[in-house]
Amino acid sequence: MSVILVTGGTGLVGKAIQHVIDTEPQGSRFGKKEGETWIFASSSEGDLRDATQAKKLFEKYKPTHVIHLAALVGGLFANMKYKLTFYRDNTLINDNVLYTSHLTGVTKVISCLSTCVYPDKVEYPLDETKIHLGLPHESNFGYAHAKRMVDVANHAYKDQFGSNFTSAIPTNIFGPHDNYDLESAHVIPALMHKCYLAQKDNTPFIVGGTGKPLRQFIYSRDLAKLFIWQLREYDDVEPLILSVGDEEEVSVKQVTDAIVKAMNFTGEYSFDPSRGDGQFRKPASNKKLLSLIGDFEFTPFEQALDESVQWFRQNYENART
Ligand code: NDP
Repeated sequence: MSVILVTGGTGLVGKAIQHVIDTEPQGSRFGKKEGETWIFASSSEGDLRDATQAKKLFEKYKPTHVIHLAALVGGLFANMKYKLTFYRDNTLINDNVLYTSHLTGVTKVISCLSTCVYPDKVEYPLDETKIHLGLPHESNFGYAHAKRMVDVANHAYKDQFGSNFTSAIPTNIFGPHDNYDLESAHVIPALMHKCYLAQKDNTPFIVGGTGKPLRQFIYSRDLAKLFIWQLREYDDVEPLILSVGDEEEVSVKQVTDAIVKAMNFTGEYSFDPSRGDGQFRKPASNKKLLSLIGDFEFTPFEQALDESVQWFRQNYENART
């Protein structure tokens, strides 16, 4: 019998894991296995910044495994303005989850990092060995340092107690249940929302920047399957990049074109180069993942985007806008 607690279970990635567990055939590679109970926790069940609430959550469900997704996540603006909050909240959440897991005998924890943890100045493509090779970008150093320390903690738990705590590093994620708030959303949900409003209000759709930067995107439901696989089959403390290949980068222009197509947007659309582009590219290698998982089929980008757009349209009223 195993009880798998997914912290942050109500967010973009948590909802995707729940979808896969609910829809894949029972007993199949990514489906629910006999004897498994999956718990998807929201912050209303316990604020994980608080050690007592974390303890109560673990006492309630008695997890044997934890997929730790809960985090204070935000866009560039929020990260720049609230560096200490991002550092402190995420440090507290991560420490409480790992320490409570340790105290209560959880047999395995996978914590979710991000490619934001990588050094600003580093040789590309990113891989699992380069996390600590230099300072992260100044704009998000609070969030990045808090996340990096999870890798430090995982190694310390392993060395001191033999714990099976590890981490995953996804690239840019998108899918149903994303955050579409124009102040804090990531690029895909922000563009979807802007396009949606331009269509509704019959106004031009203006995209900030040149459209040239390249990004690696992973569909949340593909990522969910990779988390489920990692939980069952990957027992190493070293982090694992969960991503499509670095040869599958797409430009912001390609993303915008795909959104315009999926939304049937026929109005005016242009780029505003006076707005910053951010980093031009930060490719991450998925070689280690592919060498371990064997066959895995990623959903084609346009199909994943189309599904995400349809979800957003159908759920606009209740989405995080
Ligand atoms: P979301 O913002 O969609 O969801 C965040 C989740 O964390 C929610 O379930 C939220 O609960 C929970 N949470 C936030 N604060 C607390 C708290 N104090 N106590 C308990 N739970 C809390 O995040 P994503 O699904 O996008 O991200 C999941 C993980 O993936 C995070 O660790 C993030 O850093 C990482 N990541 C995300 C990327 C992306 O592109 N989105 C890219 C790379 C990594 P509630 O809603 O109930 O408040």
